[in-house]
Amino acid sequence: MSMVIPFVARSDENDRQTWIEALGAAMPDHRIKRFEELTEIERQSARVAIVADPDPADIAGMPDLLWIHSLWAGVERIANELPVDGPIIVRLEDPQMSKTMAEAVLAWTLYLHRDMPRYRRQQEERIWKEHALPLPSERTIGLLGLGVLGRAAAAKLLQQEFRVCGWSRSKTTMDGVETFHGADELYQVLAKSDIVVVLMPLTAETRSLLDDGRLSAMCAGSSLINFARGPIIDAAALLGHLDSGHLDHAVLDVFNEEPLPKDNPLWGHPRVTVLPHISGPTNRTTASAIVAGNIKAYLETGQIPPGVDRARGY
Ligand code: NAP
Repeated sequence: MSMVIPFVARSDENDRQTWIEALGAAMPDHRIKRFEELTEIERQSARVAIVADPDPADIAGMPDLLWIHSLWAGVERIANELPVDGPIIVRLEDPQMSKTMAEAVLAWTLYLHRDMPRYRRQQEERIWKEHALPLPSERTIGLLGLGVLGRAAAAKLLQQEFRVCGWSRSKTTMDGVETFHGADELYQVLAKSDIVVVLMPLTAETRSLLDDGRLSAMCAGSSLINFARGPIIDAAALLGHLDSGHLDHAVLDVFNEEPLPKDNPLWGHPRVTVLPHISGPTNRTTASAIVAGNIKAYLETGQIPPGVDRARGY
Protein backbone atom coordinates (compact mmCIF):
# COMPACT_ATOMS: atom_id res chain seq x y z
CA MET A 1 0.00 0.00 0.00
CA SER A 2 1.40 3.37 -1.00
CA MET A 3 1.83 5.88 1.83
CA VAL A 4 2.80 9.48 2.34
CA ILE A 5 5.89 9.63 4.58
CA PRO A 6 6.72 13.04 6.07
CA PHE A 7 10.30 14.30 5.81
CA VAL A 8 11.21 16.89 8.43
CA ALA A 9 14.56 18.69 8.28
CA ARG A 10 15.98 22.09 9.11
CA SER A 11 18.66 22.06 6.39
CA ASP A 12 18.65 24.20 3.25
CA GLU A 13 16.35 23.47 0.32
CA ASN A 14 19.11 21.98 -1.82
CA ASP A 15 20.00 19.47 0.88
CA ARG A 16 16.37 18.59 1.52
CA GLN A 17 15.67 18.08 -2.19
CA THR A 18 18.67 15.74 -2.51
CA TRP A 19 17.45 13.72 0.47
CA ILE A 20 13.93 13.49 -0.93
CA GLU A 21 15.32 12.15 -4.20
CA ALA A 22 17.53 9.56 -2.44
CA LEU A 23 14.74 8.44 -0.11
CA GLY A 24 12.24 8.40 -2.98
CA ALA A 25 14.56 6.16 -5.01
CA ALA A 26 14.85 3.75 -2.06
CA MET A 27 11.07 3.77 -1.45
CA PRO A 28 9.51 3.99 -4.92
CA ASP A 29 6.13 2.71 -3.64
CA HIS A 30 5.72 5.63 -1.21
CA ARG A 31 5.64 9.38 -1.48
CA ILE A 32 8.15 11.31 0.63
CA LYS A 33 6.76 14.78 1.35
CA ARG A 34 8.31 17.78 3.08
CA PHE A 35 6.49 18.65 6.30
CA GLU A 36 5.24 21.97 4.93
CA GLU A 37 3.69 20.22 1.90
CA LEU A 38 1.57 17.84 4.00
CA THR A 39 -2.18 18.31 4.08
CA GLU A 40 -3.84 18.62 7.48
CA ILE A 41 -5.16 15.04 7.14
CA GLU A 42 -1.66 13.76 6.31
CA ARG A 43 -0.22 15.51 9.39
CA GLN A 44 -2.91 14.06 11.63
CA SER A 45 -2.60 10.54 10.25
CA ALA A 46 1.23 10.28 10.13
CA ARG A 47 2.60 7.42 12.29
CA VAL A 48 6.21 7.51 11.12
CA ALA A 49 8.40 10.33 9.79
CA ILE A 50 11.96 10.59 8.50
CA VAL A 51 13.92 13.39 10.16
CA ALA A 52 17.24 15.21 9.96
CA ASP A 53 17.61 17.76 12.73
CA PRO A 54 13.84 18.46 12.75
CA ASP A 55 12.14 21.52 14.19
CA PRO A 56 10.39 20.20 17.36
CA ALA A 57 7.33 22.31 16.45
CA ASP A 58 6.95 20.31 13.23
CA ILE A 59 7.14 17.03 15.13
CA ALA A 60 4.49 18.35 17.55
CA GLY A 61 2.37 19.16 14.48
CA MET A 62 1.94 15.41 13.87
CA PRO A 63 0.19 14.36 17.10
CA ASP A 64 -0.14 10.63 16.34
CA LEU A 65 3.45 9.99 15.32
CA LEU A 66 4.66 6.74 16.89
CA TRP A 67 8.28 6.96 15.77
CA ILE A 68 10.75 9.03 13.84
CA HIS A 69 13.70 7.67 11.89
CA SER A 70 16.75 9.93 12.05
CA LEU A 71 19.14 10.15 9.13
CA TRP A 72 22.03 10.72 11.54
CA ALA A 73 23.77 8.29 13.90
CA GLY A 74 24.12 10.97 16.60
CA VAL A 75 20.72 12.01 17.94
CA GLU A 76 21.81 14.17 20.89
CA ARG A 77 20.04 17.27 19.64
CA ILE A 78 16.70 15.61 18.86
CA ALA A 79 16.77 13.68 22.15
CA ASN A 80 17.34 16.97 23.95
CA GLU A 81 14.68 18.91 22.12
CA LEU A 82 11.79 16.44 21.91
CA PRO A 83 9.60 15.66 24.92
CA VAL A 84 10.39 12.38 26.67
CA ASP A 85 6.84 11.14 26.01
CA GLY A 86 7.13 12.08 22.32
CA PRO A 87 7.61 9.63 19.45
CA ILE A 88 10.25 6.90 19.67
CA ILE A 89 13.53 8.16 18.20
CA VAL A 90 15.27 5.63 15.98
CA ARG A 91 18.80 6.56 14.99
CA LEU A 92 20.65 5.54 11.86
CA GLU A 93 22.78 2.43 12.25
CA ASP A 94 24.44 2.01 8.91
CA PRO A 95 27.31 -0.48 8.44
CA GLN A 96 28.72 1.88 5.81
CA MET A 97 28.86 4.68 8.40
CA SER A 98 30.75 2.35 10.76
CA LYS A 99 33.25 1.58 8.00
CA THR A 100 33.65 5.26 7.18
CA MET A 101 34.17 6.21 10.82
CA ALA A 102 36.60 3.34 11.39
CA GLU A 103 38.54 4.52 8.35
CA ALA A 104 38.65 8.05 9.82
CA VAL A 105 39.89 6.75 13.18
CA LEU A 106 42.63 4.76 11.43
CA ALA A 107 43.55 7.68 9.14
CA TRP A 108 43.95 10.22 11.94
CA THR A 109 45.59 7.69 14.26
CA LEU A 110 48.18 7.10 11.54
CA TYR A 111 48.52 10.88 11.12
CA LEU A 112 49.55 11.08 14.78
CA HIS A 113 51.46 7.78 14.87
CA ARG A 114 53.57 8.87 11.86
CA ASP A 115 54.20 12.31 13.44
CA MET A 116 52.75 14.19 10.49
CA PRO A 117 51.96 17.41 12.40
CA ARG A 118 55.61 17.58 13.57
CA TYR A 119 57.00 16.94 10.07
CA ARG A 120 54.67 19.65 8.74
CA ARG A 121 56.05 22.12 11.32
CA GLN A 122 59.60 21.04 10.43
CA GLN A 123 58.93 21.67 6.75
CA GLU A 124 57.74 25.19 7.51
CA GLU A 125 61.14 25.80 9.11
CA ARG A 126 63.08 23.77 6.47
CA ILE A 127 64.33 21.38 9.16
CA TRP A 128 65.55 17.96 7.97
CA LYS A 129 65.32 15.74 11.03
CA GLU A 130 64.20 12.17 11.52
CA HIS A 131 62.35 11.00 14.64
CA ALA A 132 62.08 7.47 16.01
CA LEU A 133 59.09 5.51 14.73
CA PRO A 134 57.58 3.08 17.26
CA LEU A 135 55.83 -0.04 16.00
CA PRO A 136 52.02 0.12 16.04
CA SER A 137 52.18 -2.70 18.60
CA GLU A 138 54.09 -0.31 20.88
CA ARG A 139 51.28 2.28 20.76
CA THR A 140 48.09 2.05 22.79
CA ILE A 141 44.97 3.61 21.37
CA GLY A 142 42.21 4.22 23.94
CA LEU A 143 38.68 4.36 22.60
CA LEU A 144 36.20 6.23 24.80
CA GLY A 145 32.97 4.57 23.65
CA LEU A 146 32.78 0.96 22.50
CA GLY A 147 29.43 1.14 20.76
CA VAL A 148 28.62 0.57 17.11
CA LEU A 149 31.28 3.02 15.90
CA GLY A 150 33.86 2.38 18.63
CA ARG A 151 33.87 -1.37 17.95
CA ALA A 152 34.27 -0.86 14.21
CA ALA A 153 37.18 1.50 14.91
CA ALA A 154 38.75 -0.98 17.34
CA ALA A 155 38.60 -3.76 14.73
CA LYS A 156 40.30 -1.53 12.16
CA LEU A 157 43.06 -0.50 14.60
CA LEU A 158 43.67 -4.14 15.56
CA GLN A 159 44.10 -5.06 11.88
CA GLN A 160 46.85 -2.43 11.81
CA GLU A 161 48.40 -4.09 14.89
CA PHE A 162 47.86 -1.21 17.31
CA ARG A 163 47.27 -2.09 20.97
CA VAL A 164 43.68 -1.17 21.70
CA CYS A 165 41.82 -0.52 24.92
CA GLY A 166 38.25 0.72 25.26
CA TRP A 167 35.98 2.29 27.81
CA SER A 168 32.20 2.07 28.01
CA ARG A 169 29.42 2.69 30.50
CA SER A 170 28.54 -0.94 31.09
CA LYS A 171 30.93 -3.89 31.22
CA THR A 172 31.68 -5.34 27.82
CA THR A 173 34.24 -7.51 26.05
CA MET A 174 35.79 -7.60 22.62
CA ASP A 175 38.46 -9.98 21.33
CA GLY A 176 41.86 -8.32 21.31
CA VAL A 177 40.67 -5.24 23.21
CA GLU A 178 41.39 -4.54 26.87
CA THR A 179 38.07 -3.25 28.17
CA PHE A 180 37.23 -0.92 31.04
CA HIS A 181 33.97 0.54 32.26
CA GLY A 182 32.54 2.98 34.76
CA ALA A 183 33.81 6.31 36.03
CA ASP A 184 36.85 5.04 38.02
CA GLU A 185 38.26 2.87 35.25
CA LEU A 186 38.36 5.82 32.85
CA TYR A 187 41.56 6.92 34.60
CA GLN A 188 43.24 3.62 33.74
CA VAL A 189 42.45 4.08 30.05
CA LEU A 190 43.66 7.69 30.07
CA ALA A 191 46.88 6.74 31.85
CA LYS A 192 47.84 4.00 29.40
CA SER A 193 46.80 5.48 26.04
CA ASP A 194 49.18 7.20 23.63
CA ILE A 195 46.18 8.36 21.61
CA VAL A 196 42.69 8.78 23.09
CA VAL A 197 39.79 8.66 20.62
CA VAL A 198 36.41 10.01 21.76
CA LEU A 199 33.48 8.11 20.19
CA MET A 200 30.64 8.40 22.69
CA PRO A 201 27.37 10.34 22.73
CA LEU A 202 26.97 13.70 24.42
CA THR A 203 24.78 13.14 27.49
CA ALA A 204 24.44 14.74 30.91
CA GLU A 205 27.16 12.29 32.07
CA THR A 206 29.62 12.84 29.23
CA ARG A 207 29.34 16.66 28.99
CA SER A 208 32.78 18.06 30.03
CA LEU A 209 33.92 14.51 30.74
CA LEU A 210 37.44 15.39 29.62
CA ASP A 211 37.91 18.33 31.99
CA ASP A 212 41.15 19.67 33.40
CA GLY A 213 41.46 16.82 35.93
CA ARG A 214 40.92 14.02 33.43
CA LEU A 215 43.10 15.65 30.76
CA SER A 216 45.82 15.81 33.45
CA ALA A 217 45.41 12.03 33.84
CA MET A 218 46.38 11.45 30.19
CA CYS A 219 50.01 10.34 29.65
CA ALA A 220 52.56 13.07 29.03
CA GLY A 221 53.03 13.56 25.29
CA SER A 222 49.83 11.74 24.33
CA SER A 223 47.29 13.00 21.80
CA LEU A 224 43.54 13.26 21.50
CA ILE A 225 41.06 12.72 18.68
CA ASN A 226 37.45 13.89 19.11
CA PHE A 227 35.02 12.46 16.54
CA ALA A 228 31.97 12.55 18.84
CA ARG A 229 30.66 15.89 20.15
CA GLY A 230 32.51 19.10 21.09
CA PRO A 231 31.16 19.66 24.63
CA ILE A 232 32.56 16.29 25.80
CA ILE A 233 35.95 18.06 26.05
CA ASP A 234 36.57 21.25 28.02
CA ALA A 235 38.16 23.29 25.20
CA ALA A 236 39.84 25.84 27.50
CA ALA A 237 41.42 23.08 29.59
CA LEU A 238 42.54 21.29 26.41
CA LEU A 239 44.27 24.44 25.14
CA GLY A 240 46.05 24.72 28.50
CA HIS A 241 47.36 21.14 28.23
CA LEU A 242 48.50 21.68 24.63
CA ASP A 243 50.22 24.98 25.50
CA SER A 244 52.04 23.43 28.44
CA GLY A 245 53.22 20.54 26.23
CA HIS A 246 51.51 17.95 28.45
CA LEU A 247 49.46 16.91 25.40
CA ASP A 248 51.12 16.69 22.01
CA HIS A 249 48.29 17.18 19.54
CA ALA A 250 44.50 17.27 19.21
CA VAL A 251 42.52 16.32 16.11
CA LEU A 252 39.11 17.91 16.54
CA ASP A 253 36.19 17.25 14.19
CA VAL A 254 33.45 18.56 16.47
CA PHE A 255 33.08 21.76 18.50
CA ASN A 256 30.83 23.53 20.98
CA GLU A 257 29.76 25.83 18.17
CA GLU A 258 29.73 24.70 14.52
CA PRO A 259 30.94 26.10 12.19
CA LEU A 260 33.86 26.92 14.48
CA PRO A 261 33.87 30.77 14.78
CA LYS A 262 36.72 32.36 12.83
CA ASP A 263 38.16 34.01 15.95
CA ASN A 264 38.37 30.73 17.92
CA PRO A 265 41.99 30.12 19.04
CA LEU A 266 41.79 26.44 18.03
CA TRP A 267 42.01 27.44 14.34
CA GLY A 268 45.54 28.82 14.58
CA HIS A 269 46.96 26.54 17.25
CA PRO A 270 50.03 24.64 15.95
CA ARG A 271 49.10 21.56 17.98
CA VAL A 272 45.49 21.39 16.81
CA THR A 273 44.05 19.96 13.60
CA VAL A 274 40.60 21.38 12.91
CA LEU A 275 38.22 19.32 10.77
CA PRO A 276 34.74 20.53 9.71
CA HIS A 277 32.69 17.64 11.18
CA ILE A 278 33.63 15.21 8.41
CA SER A 279 34.76 12.07 10.21
CA GLY A 280 31.57 10.04 9.72
CA PRO A 281 29.26 11.58 7.14
CA THR A 282 25.95 9.88 6.40
CA ASN A 283 25.95 8.37 2.91
CA ARG A 284 22.61 9.21 1.29
CA THR A 285 22.34 6.02 -0.75
CA THR A 286 23.16 3.50 1.99
CA ALA A 287 21.26 5.48 4.65
CA SER A 288 18.16 5.68 2.44
CA ALA A 289 18.28 1.91 1.92
CA ILE A 290 18.49 1.30 5.70
CA VAL A 291 15.60 3.69 6.41
CA ALA A 292 13.54 2.10 3.60
CA GLY A 293 14.17 -1.38 5.05
CA ASN A 294 13.12 -0.33 8.55
CA ILE A 295 9.97 1.41 7.33
CA LYS A 296 9.05 -1.55 5.11
CA ALA A 297 9.43 -3.94 8.06
CA TYR A 298 7.28 -1.64 10.22
CA LEU A 299 4.52 -1.43 7.61
CA GLU A 300 4.53 -5.20 7.16
CA THR A 301 4.83 -6.29 10.80
CA GLY A 302 4.14 -3.23 12.98
CA GLN A 303 7.63 -3.71 14.47
CA ILE A 304 9.40 -0.44 15.36
CA PRO A 305 13.23 -0.70 15.49
CA PRO A 306 14.82 -0.19 18.95
CA GLY A 307 14.75 3.48 19.90
CA VAL A 308 16.97 5.80 21.91
CA ASP A 309 16.76 5.18 25.67
CA ARG A 310 15.47 8.58 26.75
CA ALA A 311 16.51 8.19 30.40
CA ARG A 312 20.09 7.24 29.41
CA GLY A 313 20.20 9.89 26.67
CA TYR A 314 21.51 7.66 23.85
P1 NAP B 1 26.52 3.86 20.49
O1 NAP B 1 26.47 2.62 19.68
O2 NAP B 1 25.30 4.28 21.23
O3 NAP B 1 27.73 3.68 21.54
C1 NAP B 1 28.00 4.63 22.52
C2 NAP B 1 29.14 4.13 23.41
O4 NAP B 1 29.43 5.16 24.37
C3 NAP B 1 28.77 2.88 24.17
O5 NAP B 1 29.90 2.05 24.32
C4 NAP B 1 28.37 3.44 25.54
O6 NAP B 1 28.52 2.55 26.62
C5 NAP B 1 29.38 4.57 25.67
N1 NAP B 1 28.92 5.53 26.67
C6 NAP B 1 27.81 6.31 26.67
N2 NAP B 1 27.72 7.02 27.81
C7 NAP B 1 28.81 6.68 28.56
C8 NAP B 1 29.28 7.06 29.84
N3 NAP B 1 28.62 7.96 30.59
N4 NAP B 1 30.42 6.51 30.29
C9 NAP B 1 31.08 5.59 29.55
N5 NAP B 1 30.69 5.18 28.31
C10 NAP B 1 29.56 5.73 27.83
O7 NAP B 1 26.97 5.12 19.60
P2 NAP B 1 27.82 5.11 18.25
O8 NAP B 1 26.97 4.73 17.09
O9 NAP B 1 29.06 4.33 18.47
O10 NAP B 1 28.13 6.68 18.10
C11 NAP B 1 28.87 7.38 19.08
C12 NAP B 1 28.79 8.87 18.81
O11 NAP B 1 29.55 9.21 17.66
C13 NAP B 1 27.41 9.43 18.47
O12 NAP B 1 26.61 9.61 19.61
C14 NAP B 1 27.75 10.75 17.82
O13 NAP B 1 27.89 11.74 18.81
C15 NAP B 1 29.13 10.50 17.23
N6 NAP B 1 29.14 10.56 15.76
C16 NAP B 1 29.92 11.51 15.18
C17 NAP B 1 29.97 11.59 13.80
C18 NAP B 1 30.87 12.62 13.13
O14 NAP B 1 30.81 12.76 11.91
N7 NAP B 1 31.71 13.34 13.85
C19 NAP B 1 29.24 10.70 13.01
C20 NAP B 1 28.45 9.75 13.64
C21 NAP B 1 28.41 9.68 15.02
P3 NAP B 1 27.58 1.25 26.73
O15 NAP B 1 28.11 0.30 25.70
O16 NAP B 1 27.81 0.75 28.11
O17 NAP B 1 26.18 1.69 26.46
